[in-house]
Amino acid sequence: MTLMPDFTPDLKAMLADLDTLARIESPSTDPAGIARVMDVVEGWARAMGAETHALGGGARLFNFGVRRADAEHGLPAPGLGGQNQGEQDLGGQDRPVLVLTHADTVWPHGTLDHMPLRVEGDRLYGPGTYDMKAGIVGLFHALRSLNGEWPAGGVQVLLSPDEETGSLSSRAHIENAARFARVALVVEPPVADTHALKTGRKGTGSYVLTFTGVASHAGNKPGEGASAVTAAAQAILDLQALARPDLGTTVSAGLIAGGSAVNVIPSHCRLELDVRVSSLEEGARVDAAVHAWTPADARVQSRVEGGLNRPPFEQGEGTLALYAQARAIARELGFDVPSAVVGGGSDGNFTAPIIPTLDGLGAPGDGAHAAHEHVRLDRWPDHVRLLARLLREV
Ligand SMILES: [Zn+2]
Repeated sequence: MTLMPDFTPDLKAMLADLDTLARIESPSTDPAGIARVMDVVEGWARAMGAETHALGGGARLFNFGVRRADAEHGLPAPGLGGQNQGEQDLGGQDRPVLVLTHADTVWPHGTLDHMPLRVEGDRLYGPGTYDMKAGIVGLFHALRSLNGEWPAGGVQVLLSPDEETGSLSSRAHIENAARFARVALVVEPPVADTHALKTGRKGTGSYVLTFTGVASHAGNKPGEGASAVTAAAQAILDLQALARPDLGTTVSAGLIAGGSAVNVIPSHCRLELDVRVSSLEEGARVDAAVHAWTPADARVQSRVEGGLNRPPFEQGEGTLALYAQARAIARELGFDVPSAVVGGGSDGNFTAPIIPTLDGLGAPGDGAHAAHEHVRLDRWPDHVRLLARLLREV
């Protein structure tokens, strides 16, 4: 391996770019705001010579040095190049490195009014900075440092519009891209405090249970009523008991609403469940049990919607090898990066069953989805140097 000259990220320029992205509020529910963020990023990509593609559902794809691309989807297509016949020829080092990013945030419009962007000491606070606009900025500074010398197969950056709401519109694009790529790098932030890279994530599921009972006067004719709230209460106890913390399975009833007045036996109740699993088997077990649950009182009807929306990102050998490479690079650069398996899902959950996936390559900090969301400016350049080296050497 040739030793490449080291790259010193320009923190001032990264801060200016982050300011540009973070000032555009882009909640998952606002396609216009998300498109504005994407337009800025697309401008950076074009300036570096990328081919850019708008994918259905609002996602975009930027190709850097990808040899052959299918014009419609921007994905390398087997058999299009003439010389290579069939998909197997795209194996190994001919396949691109896929990088996953998202332009949406969990923050509604107006958040900047009470949570303005501000630097305090070595921290930059603001909505959507740590998760993940700083990850996007760091990625583009790392890409620019390669000076057009892309790794074998090139780099594909997929920018998704709806990661925070489960990637319903971009999942198919992410999985397609993963089938053509050799590895996936995800620039979601590293773990807070330890700045660990993520080598596994739980699968996530959500369910909405709707109960319909029979209303009645709570004082005069309680026996004629069938309580939807009582059924929901029993469902909470039964379904939360499906948790197996020893296997990484959690079940939590996070939202409940029901009833119409205190003196009426309630005929309606709605319950939302959050489910996390570490294995597909556990996902299937919990899913079957949630769907099979029925109220004890036959007069109450229950309906279940939802399911597992992200499969578990199980820590595979390829992923561990990628992590080992990243860690070795970090050590050469003078710092250490631990690894961690975390409970929250990301788009890496969609690529991990297909190709080796390393997540947490974004900006260090803390407070994702919380009022103290911030990026650690003292640690950020090191992680950008790590990403640049990894992109070059992976
Ligand atoms: Zn994120």
